[in-house]
Amino acid sequence: MRAEIIAIGSELLLGATIDTNSAYLARQLAAAGVNLYRKSVVGDNSERIAATLREALSRADLVICTGGLGPTLDDVTREAVAMAYGRSLEFHQALMDQIAARFAAMGREMPQSNRRQAFVPTGARIIENPRGTAPAFIVEDPIGTTVVLPGVPYEMRYLYEHAVLPYLREERGVTAVILVKTLHATGLGESAIGELIADLMLQENPTVGISAKQARYELRIGARADSQAEAEALIAEAEAIIVARLGSHLIGDEPLADRVARLLREQGLGIALHECTSAAPTFRALSAASGGSDGIRGVLIQPITNPIDEQAAADLARAGAVRTAERWHAELGLATQAASTIDPSGMTAVSVALATPTELLQQVTRRYDLRQAEGWDFVATLALDLVRRYLSREPA
Ligand code: AMP
Ligand code: MG
Repeated sequence: MRAEIIAIGSELLLGATIDTNSAYLARQLAAAGVNLYRKSVVGDNSERIAATLREALSRADLVICTGGLGPTLDDVTREAVAMAYGRSLEFHQALMDQIAARFAAMGREMPQSNRRQAFVPTGARIIENPRGTAPAFIVEDPIGTTVVLPGVPYEMRYLYEHAVLPYLREERGVTAVILVKTLHATGLGESAIGELIADLMLQENPTVGISAKQARYELRIGARADSQAEAEALIAEAEAIIVARLGSHLIGDEPLADRVARLLREQGLGIALHECTSAAPTFRALSAASGGSDGIRGVLIQPITNPIDEQAAADLARAGAVRTAERWHAELGLATQAASTIDPSGMTAVSVALATPTELLQQVTRRYDLRQAEGWDFVATLALDLVRRYLSREPA
C-alpha cells in the first residue's frame, strides 16, 4: 500500500505551529509496514486542500489528513474532502447528539458553530472521537481512501491508535513488520561514513540511512519482513557489517553523551570540566545524558579574557584539565580552550585536553567555526569522544 500524509492548517505554513502530527503518523505508518511516499502541508483553503488531496490520491492508495476539523469557519477540511471526491456533505444527527452530549457533560451550552462538526462527506465512515468534539472519518472510494483526523495532537494520536490502525490491520490487510534500529557514530565525516557503507545504503531491505548532527551521526537500519524475527535477523546482519567497517568510530546503540555518562558510572569515575565559554557545551551535553550525570564532579567556566593564540590555547587546555581534576578531586579533568583569534576563513583553533590530577592523557587541537553558536556543539562532540575513547580503551 502506498500512503501519503497531508497536514492541514495555515498556522503550519506560517511556522507558528510545528507539524508534529505528520512526524507521528510517519513513524506509525513505518511501524505498520505501510510505505509512505510523500508528506504535504497545506493551509486552510478548501480549493487548495482539495487539489492537494486529488493529487495525492492520483499517486497513493491511502491518504491521511490531519487538521481543519474544528467548529470555526476557517476549518474547511470537511468541505475540501467532499469537493475532492465530488461528494456533498451530509448531516448526521447522531454526531450532533454526541457533540451536544459532550458540551452537556462539561456543563456548557453548545455554540451553534459546532453544528458544522456533524457534517461529513456523503457515504463516509464515521470515526467517533471520545477525546474531543471533532469527529473523524474515512472516505473509501475507487480513486483511493482518505482518512481524516483532527489536528489536536492528542486527539489525532488517540484516534490513530484506536481506530485507524485497527482499520488498516483488520480491513486493509496491513500485516508487515518494520523495525528500525539506530546506531551512533562519531569521529569520521558524514561522507567518509557514507563511503564505508555505500553498498548498504544502496540496498532496499534493510535500508541504511545516515543523519548528521554536530559531528555525531545516526545510522538508521530499517528492515521490513513478515515477522518480528525475520526483521531482527535482517537488522543484525547489517549491524554486524557496520560494526566491522566503522570500528572505533561506532559508539553503539546509545548516543555519545549517554555512553560517556554510563562508562563513568560503570567505572566509578568522576570528571571535572573546564569550559572557556559560558555556553558550557560539554557540561550541557553531558548533564543531559539519560541515565544521570552524577559522574560530573564540578564545572569551572572561565571565559577567555586576554587575547590568546593557538599555542596559548593548547597550553591553557592542558593546564586547565589537570588543575580542574585536582581542584574537584575527580579522577579525570576535561578542558576546552579556544584561541581568541579567528583566521581569514572564519575558523578558530580549539584545544581539548583530558587529564588526571597529575598528568595529561590526551590532547587534540582542531578548527571550528565559532561565529555560530552550533560550533560549540562540535567542540563538545570532540571532547566527549576523547573521554569515550579513553574509557573504552579505543585509540584516540
Ligand atoms: P485544527 O484541527 O486544525 O482545528 O487544529 C487544532 C489545533 O491542533 C491547532 O490549533 C494546532 O495547535 C494543532 N495542530 C493542528 N495541526 C497540527 C499538526 N500537523 N501538528 C501539530 N499540531 C497541530
Ligand atoms: Mg486548523
